[in-house]
Amino acid sequence: MLNIVLFGPPGAGKGTQAASLVEKYRLVHLSTGDILRSELAAQTKLGTEAKLFMDKGELVPDAVVIGMIESKLDQNPSANGFIFDGFPRTTAQAEALDDLLRRKKTSITGMLALEVEKEELIKRLQGRGKISGRADDQDIAIIENRINVYNRETAPVIDYYSSQGKFRAVQGMGSIEAIFDRLCLAVDTLK
Ligand code: AMP
Repeated sequence: MLNIVLFGPPGAGKGTQAASLVEKYRLVHLSTGDILRSELAAQTKLGTEAKLFMDKGELVPDAVVIGMIESKLDQNPSANGFIFDGFPRTTAQAEALDDLLRRKKTSITGMLALEVEKEELIKRLQGRGKISGRADDQDIAIIENRINVYNRETAPVIDYYSSQGKFRAVQGMGSIEAIFDRLCLAVDTLK
């Protein structure tokens, strides 16, 4: 199996690149942000509770997102592999993911971390906000908070995979195609 953690701050291009990677490598795309937004749209209890955190740009509690990932893994028993997009976002989530995959007799192949400058992240998120209507992309204070939360709580996940020799930094500035080519080259170094 090829199990990739597609990593990076909000606005790094994870969702865009994941769409191309799943097609090329025939993987299942698991985005915790997308799953949470569909729970929210369906007005489930989980979605309503998650909204309180998402609206502020804070992280939804670990137990909630870990439970979501566990059920998605169970729903896809014959997948070739997975792209985890926006997950894990804390070291506790990374540890839980390792446990879940171990139980399924598999593991994370590697982490591809998109590196993008802060100014560019803000520009991309504000641009997306105009099209997607996402409330958390439309307010500069929420955008800033999401980037701060990333730096404080999520960036340490790099050390977790780095210590296992699974971290690959990928330059995330430039055209979508050029970034995709760099990601594919990085995948080759993992196989
Ligand atoms: P995203 O679409 O990845 O930018 O996620 C949007 C929002 O959903 C985040 O700002 C968080 O509030 C929440 N979220 C998504 N993934 C996670 C996660 N792995 N852990 C905690 N909160 C998450």
